[in-house]
Amino acid sequence: MFDNLTNRLTGAMRKVSGKAKLSDDNIKSTLREVRKALLEADVALPVVKAFIEQVRKRAVGQEVKRSLSPGQALIKVVQNELENVMGEKSEDLNLATQPPAVILVAGLQGAGKTTSVGKLARFLKERHNKKVTVVSADVYRPAAIKQLETLAAEVEADFFPSSADQKPIDIANAAIEHAKLKYSDVLILDTAGRLHVDEDMMDEIKVLHAAVDPIETLFVVDAMTGQDAANTAKAFNDALPLTGVVLTKADGDSRGGAALSVRHITGKPIKFMGMGEKTDALEPFYPDRVASRILDMGDVLSLIEEAERKIDKDKAEKFANKVKKGKKFDLQDFRDQLQQMQNMGGLAGVMSKLPGMSQVQNAAAEQMGDKTLKQMDAMISSMTPKERRNPDLIDNSRKRRISAGSGTEIQDINRLLKQHKQMQKMMKKMTKKGGMANMMRGMGNMMPPGGGFPR
Ligand code: GDP
Ligand code: MG
Repeated sequence: MFDNLTNRLTGAMRKVSGKAKLSDDNIKSTLREVRKALLEADVALPVVKAFIEQVRKRAVGQEVKRSLSPGQALIKVVQNELENVMGEKSEDLNLATQPPAVILVAGLQGAGKTTSVGKLARFLKERHNKKVTVVSADVYRPAAIKQLETLAAEVEADFFPSSADQKPIDIANAAIEHAKLKYSDVLILDTAGRLHVDEDMMDEIKVLHAAVDPIETLFVVDAMTGQDAANTAKAFNDALPLTGVVLTKADGDSRGGAALSVRHITGKPIKFMGMGEKTDALEPFYPDRVASRILDMGDVLSLIEEAERKIDKDKAEKFANKVKKGKKFDLQDFRDQLQQMQNMGGLAGVMSKLPGMSQVQNAAAEQMGDKTLKQMDAMISSMTPKERRNPDLIDNSRKRRISAGSGTEIQDINRLLKQHKQMQKMMKKMTKKGGMANMMRGMGNMMPPGGGFPR
């Protein structure tokens, strides 16, 4: 996510990060590079101008020049302004109304509306304990209704059927009645994709909006369209009072122009970010966390929250106790840890949120991608319980048997055993010093030479 922008910005920042003094020249050239980075990221020009002006004002001010470490202070200012431009604080959905709270979803064709409806239903159900009904008013593409039905079944949301021969407004009204009868807390209304220049289609959604009076009207937009995302959001907002934006496909967006432009151009907050095709790939948008991610300062908070949600608590606790008691970390434990990691989107998913990791991320992900994780799993499966408990038993003849059983090479097994040894060492250190916080710090310190910058 936002890799290009991160590389450019951290590059510019690294040059001043250790400076004990900042000259006007220093500041000027840094600002020039930041400006270039933003423009290349496809951030809208008015946003770039406002951003640079703010940073410039503060950079020449007492706050930076007088600070003990002006380079660091300047980075802080940039981070702070990144937050400001994205909206300072995270904005939740407002669902405080007589149920069902109606959420209307609008946007261009292919933006990710239907997918986002499924993701939102899951999010509201799992994290806010809401009963959710979903309905599609996309009567132009029958496949779209079916698509929502499938998603609803997957996330176990109540699906209200509709068909292509109905009028969107009739569908919406019937769905509201249904949601009331079912005591649903939330009704999410999916709509057909439309262009803001298509008057008939815009009229259709205006009438729909007036009829259902949604408490949330979300504009769903593809992050990869850069500043166009902000401009179309603005055009929609002129026709339809939006309450927020869902920025989809942020997982594939290396530039970040949409994320940085939407708020400033539309005045409306980004409320969610789509991070993949699966129904759990939706994150509330936290400007401060995204700003730290952009500056490669890591997003440890999101990581911890994700870990809390996805990690099997019982197993984790058993494991923690075992480690506490100083018991040996065997291959079975290693395998459990690998599985937990896979639950969190693999090593790449974890690393992308750690400070200073953006540069090693790709190399490491390659080294330990999903395929490798599966392979490691296969090798451990081919071992006897005794071998798992005591890897030192594994001599050459056992290695041959395991490699034949798991369809791997002897050197794969050697690598696995070596990685396990390393993990074992790390676990030992952890028990001595204690806790997750230490491990996080340990991982943060694994920064590549020249990658990230000191905090
Ligand atoms: P709609 O026409 O606006 O309803 O768009 P869809 O929900 O049908 O999505 C269009 C395509 O975008 C599908 O292939 C989705 O899987 C994909 N998609 C949606 N959201 C995301 C996302 O956050 N990340 C990625 N990588 N793909 C997404
Ligand atoms: Mg759709």
